[in-house]
Amino acid sequence: MTTKRDYYEILGVGKEADNAELKKVYRKLALQYHPDRNPGNKEAEEKFKEAAEAYDVLGDSKKRGIYDQFGHKGLEGSGFSGFGGQEDIFSNFGDIFENIFGFGGGRRSRSGARKGGDLRYDLSLSFMEGAFGTDKDLTIEKMEVCPDCDGIGCEPGTKPEICPHCNGTGQVTRSQGFFTVRTTCPNCRGNGQSIPHPCLKCRGTGQVMVTKTVAVKIPAGVDSGSRLRLTAEGEAGAYGGPPGDLYVFIDVDSHDFFERDNTNVICNIPVSFVQAALGDDIKVQTLDGEKTLVIPKGTQPGDLFRFIGEGIPSLRGGRRGDQIMRMVIKTPTHLSKKQEKLLKEFAKIESGKIANKLKNFIKGTSAKSTG
Ligand SMILES: [Zn+2]
Ligand SMILES: [Zn+2]
Repeated sequence: MTTKRDYYEILGVGKEADNAELKKVYRKLALQYHPDRNPGNKEAEEKFKEAAEAYDVLGDSKKRGIYDQFGHKGLEGSGFSGFGGQEDIFSNFGDIFENIFGFGGGRRSRSGARKGGDLRYDLSLSFMEGAFGTDKDLTIEKMEVCPDCDGIGCEPGTKPEICPHCNGTGQVTRSQGFFTVRTTCPNCRGNGQSIPHPCLKCRGTGQVMVTKTVAVKIPAGVDSGSRLRLTAEGEAGAYGGPPGDLYVFIDVDSHDFFERDNTNVICNIPVSFVQAALGDDIKVQTLDGEKTLVIPKGTQPGDLFRFIGEGIPSLRGGRRGDQIMRMVIKTPTHLSKKQEKLLKEFAKIESGKIANKLKNFIKGTSAKSTG
C-alpha cells in the first residue's frame, strides 16, 4: 500500500475544524468527484474514495481521537482498515448522502433521484455497412449536468437551503380523518432542498442541453429493425440518478442487385436462352467481388444456384449466409437474318421431334385399346 495522505489535508481543513465544517467540505468534494459525474475517470474515483475515508474518520469523534494521537497506524491497530471500494462508501454513507445532501447514494433509487431519459437515434446504413458493420460518430443533443453549478442548480457562490415547506424531509404529512398521510413535498419534489438563487446557466434545473458526439461500433449483420443500446449515453439523471441509455434504431438501405433475406442474399441472374440450353461459365457479382458461376446444360427459368457462405455474417456469430441466384432466361428481341434462319431450322427439327413423339404416343394408346 502507498503512503496515505493526511486526512485533514485531503479535506483541506485545519485540525480545529468542527463537524459542521467537515460536513460542508466533504459535501463539496463528494459532489465534485462523485462517480456518476465522472464516469470512467479513475483519478476522480480515487479522490472520491479518499475524501470518503477521511470524512469517515474525522467525522467520528472516537476515530478522530485515535487518528489525532497515533495517525494512520493507530487506526490500523484499532481494526479500521479503510474502504474496499465504492460499494463500501455507499453502504457507509448512504444515509448521509440522502439526508444531508439530497444527493446520490450510488445507483440505488431514492426519493428525488431520477434516472435520466433514454434517447433514440435513427441511423441509416448502406446495404454494405449493414452487411459488414462500420464505425459511426453520432451527433446527439442531450441534457447533461450543468458545468456551472455541478447539477445543484444554485448560482455559484450560493447554496441550496433546506426546503421550508417540509423542513428538508422531502415529505409532508396531511391529516385525513383518523389517518395521517405522508406524500412527497410538492415544493422540493422530495429532495428536501429549495434554491434561493437559481444558477443562471441552467435556470436552477441543474442540467443544460449539450451537443455531443458518440462513437459507435456497428456490428456486421445488422438489418433494418435492429436496435443497439448504448448504456449511460442518454440524458443525465436528476439529483444523482443514473443517466439514461441511448438506443440506436437501424435502417439498412436496399441494394440495386442484392435482396436480403436474413443472412442470405438473393439476386436475379439474366442468361440468354442459348446459355441456358448449352450451359456456360459466367461472372457474377458477390458481396466480396466477382465469382464464376457454372450454368449447366438445360438450365430452366427460376432455377436456383447457391454460393455457400457468400451471404451476410450472422449478427449472433456463426457462419455467413449464402448467395442464392435465381435464373432469369432472356428471349432475344432483335435477331439478324442469319440467326432467324438458324432458329427456323432449329424449330423444324424440334417440330419433327414433337410430331414423331405424338405419332408414337397415338400408336401406343390405340395398341392398348385394341389389345
Ligand atoms: Zn420540501
Ligand atoms: Zn447550473
